Amino acid sequence: MLLTVTTTHQPATDLGFLLVKHPDRVHRFDVPTGTAYVLYPEATDERCTAALLLDVDPQRLRAQHDAFSLGQFVNDRPYAASSLLASALAKVFRSALRGASKDRPDLVATPIPLVIRVPVLRGTTELATRLFEPLGWSVTATPIPLEASLGGDSRYVDLELTGELTLSAALNHLYVLLPVLDDAKHYWVAPDEIDKLLRSGAGWLADHPDKVLIARRYLVHKRAFLTTALEQLEGDEADSAIPADPELPVARRRPLAEQRRDAVLAALTEVGATRVLDLGCGGGALLTALMKDRRYTEIVGTDVSARSLEIAARRLRLDRLPERQQTRLKLWQSALTYRDDRLRGYDAAVLMEVVEHLDPPRLPALEASVFGHARPAAVVVTTPNAEYNVNYAGLTGMRHPDHRFEWTRAEFADWAARVAATYDYSVSLRPVGEVDEATGTPTQLALFTSSPSEVTA
Ligand code: SAH
Repeated sequence: MLLTVTTTHQPATDLGFLLVKHPDRVHRFDVPTGTAYVLYPEATDERCTAALLLDVDPQRLRAQHDAFSLGQFVNDRPYAASSLLASALAKVFRSALRGASKDRPDLVATPIPLVIRVPVLRGTTELATRLFEPLGWSVTATPIPLEASLGGDSRYVDLELTGELTLSAALNHLYVLLPVLDDAKHYWVAPDEIDKLLRSGAGWLADHPDKVLIARRYLVHKRAFLTTALEQLEGDEADSAIPADPELPVARRRPLAEQRRDAVLAALTEVGATRVLDLGCGGGALLTALMKDRRYTEIVGTDVSARSLEIAARRLRLDRLPERQQTRLKLWQSALTYRDDRLRGYDAAVLMEVVEHLDPPRLPALEASVFGHARPAAVVVTTPNAEYNVNYAGLTGMRHPDHRFEWTRAEFADWAARVAATYDYSVSLRPVGEVDEATGTPTQLALFTSSPSEVTA
């Protein structure tokens, strides 16, 4: 099993620093399924290629599985890229996958020209294109023909991906999508697989048009795992319109993201807001709903992440909206921990699933900039209820890899009461989502309204 990564970033041998494998040596690793090697067929300043070679040991594989379930498996495993190669990649390139580099900290976050080649991969041209193209890759997946005497194409493709991405993004795409293409895993899939998927999928999976297919195959069609994973994915930055899945109907309640959005809209209606801020708008899940409702005459989405704002603009088809619609909506890059004069004087501000993304010591700065400085007439805050997490099959950590904390109901109530008292607002708390008797609802919402200012005669 083989995979190569080539860059023409200059000096190209920086690839060795990013992978933490010196280009002059052959590196050998013992992995649970055999032996992995990293070597560099070419390493010049202009062009550098790292190869990951996995020499599968069928004896070891067999020892880990009962022979029966391995039947079809053993035949092509030594050659075709699959979960075996993905696991080896995760082990051998661990820090590069995480986007860490001691020696080239800046390069880690820089998109560089990359060509990835996987010469033998089980899958079809069509699926490889569907999976990789939306992530910014140009995809060439050439079917590998069967022997001349048999004619036709085999079930394998020779995959080449070309693009300008960070190395860490590229490795995370491969780590998730190689087993997805192969659609089989060589190991027992435990609940922590959900965390692995969410961690490796951070920043790209939620917006992938085939996220349902990816999550389903990655989680080997385990329905409870899939439901949990999708709930997490939809929760943040994701479109709640999950497409129907033709292969495996997933019986699901109304998605939490939808219930949450409706609860926020209801709160905005209640306070009669028409000019609203969506602070930390992410990919624009709420903005889309606000734009559809004519009562909102001015809608502002802000986020610290330029990439999120780009996604929101694309989702809203901002460039194609008629001018009058365009003027209703503004997207501004802004950090919630700094005062921003542009945000003053609105009817309402929404912080939907945002506060838990800030380190706790940064929260007072957010409170001061939103409640103190921007000072909208109403503020709607939603955040996960940590107590409810026990209801998610397989969830081990927090609901999203970027969450810095998740509050219990009592913690949220304390925070809300303190903020209301400090900044002279009244607050009411509301549950959102299915009620569990012991732990409450998955989401909690607080509606702050400013005490009407006294009119002096
Ligand atoms: N409100 C959206 C997105 C929630 S994800 C939704 O419900 O779908 C949290 C968002 O908060 C991310 O888009 C992140 O970029 C943004 N964010 C995190 N810290 C921020 C900060 N300090 N200032 C502004 N936005 C921030």
